[in-house]
Amino acid sequence: MKAAVIGSGVGGMAIAIRLAIKGYKVTVFEQSSRVGGKLNELRMDGFRFDTGPSLFTLPELVDELFALAGNEGTKLLSYKKLENVTRYFYPDGKVLNSWADPVRFANEAEAVLGEPAENIQKYLSECSELYRLTSKMFIFSPFPTLEGFKSKEAQEIGKNIKMLKAFETMHGVNSRSFSKEQTVQLFNRFATYNGSNPYKAPGTLTIIPHLEHNVGAYFPEKGMYSIAEAMQALAVKLGVKFELGCPVQRIEYKSSKVAGIRANGVSEAYDIVVNNTDIFNAYPKLMPERKLNWFYKRQKPSSSALIFYWGVRGEYPKLDLHNILFSTNYAQEFKVLGDKGISSDPTVYIFISSKLVKQDAPMGHENWFVMVNAPEDCGQDWNEITKTTRTNILKKIRQETGIDIEPNIVCEDILTPPLIEQKTGSYRGALYGISSNNRFAAFSRHPNRSKSINGLYFTGGSVHPGGGIPLCLASAKIVDNLIKPV
Ligand SMILES: Cc1cc2nc3c(=O)[nH]c(=O)nc-3n(C[C@H](O)[C@H](O)[C@H](O)COP(=O)(O)OP(=O)(O)OC[C@H]3O[C@@H](n4cnc5c(N)ncnc54)[C@H](O)[C@@H]3O)c2cc1C
Repeated sequence: MKAAVIGSGVGGMAIAIRLAIKGYKVTVFEQSSRVGGKLNELRMDGFRFDTGPSLFTLPELVDELFALAGNEGTKLLSYKKLENVTRYFYPDGKVLNSWADPVRFANEAEAVLGEPAENIQKYLSECSELYRLTSKMFIFSPFPTLEGFKSKEAQEIGKNIKMLKAFETMHGVNSRSFSKEQTVQLFNRFATYNGSNPYKAPGTLTIIPHLEHNVGAYFPEKGMYSIAEAMQALAVKLGVKFELGCPVQRIEYKSSKVAGIRANGVSEAYDIVVNNTDIFNAYPKLMPERKLNWFYKRQKPSSSALIFYWGVRGEYPKLDLHNILFSTNYAQEFKVLGDKGISSDPTVYIFISSKLVKQDAPMGHENWFVMVNAPEDCGQDWNEITKTTRTNILKKIRQETGIDIEPNIVCEDILTPPLIEQKTGSYRGALYGISSNNRFAAFSRHPNRSKSINGLYFTGGSVHPGGGIPLCLASAKIVDNLIKPV
């Protein structure tokens, strides 16, 4: 039995590994010359940058893949738990470390922000309970089905419906949970972990901080891209073939059964096809006769990002691996994003992998990945936005950290929403598929199996259960469970 996987993102490589283990002869077709999709890297003037994801949570989902492969999977990826997850800088000069130990973090928040530690501990334990209640049904099961609604988990959710916090916004939940605006801002930020707006997204998204604050954040010893490299290495060991630089042109099917794919003008027969490309581009480009159902089509993309990769001279101990420089008015920032722009006072995220991976920057230098949230591409003037935002970011770094970085930038690359779409096929440059800006989002993602074409499956951030490395891995696991062994 032959399986074709279109796209070598996290979801694509995870399903390739799983199908190879199941006994399929698997080929992964990737348009780019390298694997990883959004999980990728850039090398420039002696610096190495992870270009996409930087925060690694639920690493056990990657471990599970390696474990499934038995001996083949051992020692392909090593990572460690971070002691301090993020260093937060506020406009009034406060600096807060979010320690992985929840008690230590709560005590630090009390000392720095004046937020009673018990508020944070109570909140984090509610996040944990919410994750326990919802994750099996919403993350690790196929697109909500009738059987799913009758399950034990669904019944438990039914009995504890208030705990879902689906009828409040995330900001609403955070505002009533904390006494200090700055704590609310910190926890509102987690909506951006799936490209959403905390003032619109349901309170159910407060499960996100559970992953970082209760379970922990991790970092691979050789940087984020080593996750993609390890997955590729495992897939190759298992006999998966990679066709790189090979865009698929069509998914082929005969009446209601998948027939194969067409690439380089040549049709090839496959028993099953798994699409890992963005669903909003896959329908019009790979199967134009099949229309994406209006229900999915009307969903709004998640936010995108504007990123500067700066090789910088000097070392800056004030900054840690993950740093956030908060804006003065978070609500205003999201209002501007909603109007498809970037605020003149944006929250700035700085990720410096060379703090842990010394070989990522030459001696006496650091590799700065500087990112702000951006709207999806709607044809804005990105040259102008990039120029203005760069100036605003440099000003913000000076104001909140006292570091004048501009004279020390020795090399630079930039990623805009249109470039994200160009490089990864992500519709309008969205980072996480559709946004979760309404309480029905969990039910609004495209399912993992085609209803009209037998043998066609979908994995990755644009389909159920959503974007981010853990959810893409979960989507591959769901697809795996839907496919019979050879
Ligand atoms: C800047 C940025 C920051 C992020 N930060 C985080 C983070 O900190 N933590 C986290 O967990 N997640 C983060 N994410 C999200 C995470 O990267 C994605 O959700 C995840 O990597 C998407 O994986 P995927 O399986 O959907 O495939 P994708 O990465 O979307 O890959 C799809 C692949 O399909 C290929 N393709 C497209 N069309 C074709 C075709 N016709 N033929 C062949 N190949 C094709 C593309 O080239 C691409 O390689 C971030 C994303 C970005 C961009």
